[in-house]
Amino acid sequence: MVNAEIGVIGGSGLYSFLEDVTEVRVETPYGAPSDSLFLGEVGGRRVAFLPRHGRGHHVPPHRINYRANLWALRSVGVRQVLGPCAVGGLRPEYGPGTLLVPDQLVDRTKTRVQTFYDGETRADGVAPKVVHLGFADPYCPTGRKVALAAARAGDWEAVDGGTLVVVEGPRFSTRAESRWHAAMGWSVVGMTGHPEAVLARELGLCYTTLTLVTDLDAGAEAGEAVSHDEVLRVFAANVDRLRSVLFEAVAALPAEADRDCLCPHALDGIDTGIVLP
Ligand SMILES: [Zn+2]
Repeated sequence: MVNAEIGVIGGSGLYSFLEDVTEVRVETPYGAPSDSLFLGEVGGRRVAFLPRHGRGHHVPPHRINYRANLWALRSVGVRQVLGPCAVGGLRPEYGPGTLLVPDQLVDRTKTRVQTFYDGETRADGVAPKVVHLGFADPYCPTGRKVALAAARAGDWEAVDGGTLVVVEGPRFSTRAESRWHAAMGWSVVGMTGHPEAVLARELGLCYTTLTLVTDLDAGAEAGEAVSHDEVLRVFAANVDRLRSVLFEAVAALPAEADRDCLCPHALDGIDTGIVLP
């Protein structure tokens, strides 16, 4: 049966060893998602995994079809999303291997479509209205609590809160940009956290990100600047741990009837012009 309740957007290392995974191709009014959805069961919960960059990591952060990804997840029943991602640490104490669950986000992307409600008629003739949603708190408070508890249960002292600044990429920051991000008091820097979070909100989904620090960003690191190889190496070294945390969190997320956060009510009383899947 093609249904899931929880979505995980992340690398293939997170689901590839699961038994009984069903691959499902989903088309959306916004085009194709990064890849098929991979549906399986974790801790008694039905989960849909979506490789954010596609299998083989061929889609760069600025070309990901974020709208199609979130829409596809919702269309198979997903209502709560965990979106782990690799980041650079902006403070010396957030070195490689740090797990940080942000509570704030700063958008420094440049070219990405970041709304379903842009007033542009879709290819299928549906005309969304212009909608302005609250986004003061970009992450689900319940999801954050669950993620932090799951990390601690696995002896990983995750950092509770902080600001994720999302840059356009695919290049890494200059030293000046990195020093600026740090001077602003922001915690970690990544390339995929936006518009994933806001698009989830626009669909009434709970969204929580878990950031894994793979390197100290250029301004926080006195010597060598970050390289892609080093990012991959640190990520690989931590992927088993991250997977355990995610699975623990999946099992602990509330059942649909018990979601008591505001996320599902983001669109209450608003005529969006769109019927959600
Ligand atoms: Zn929520």
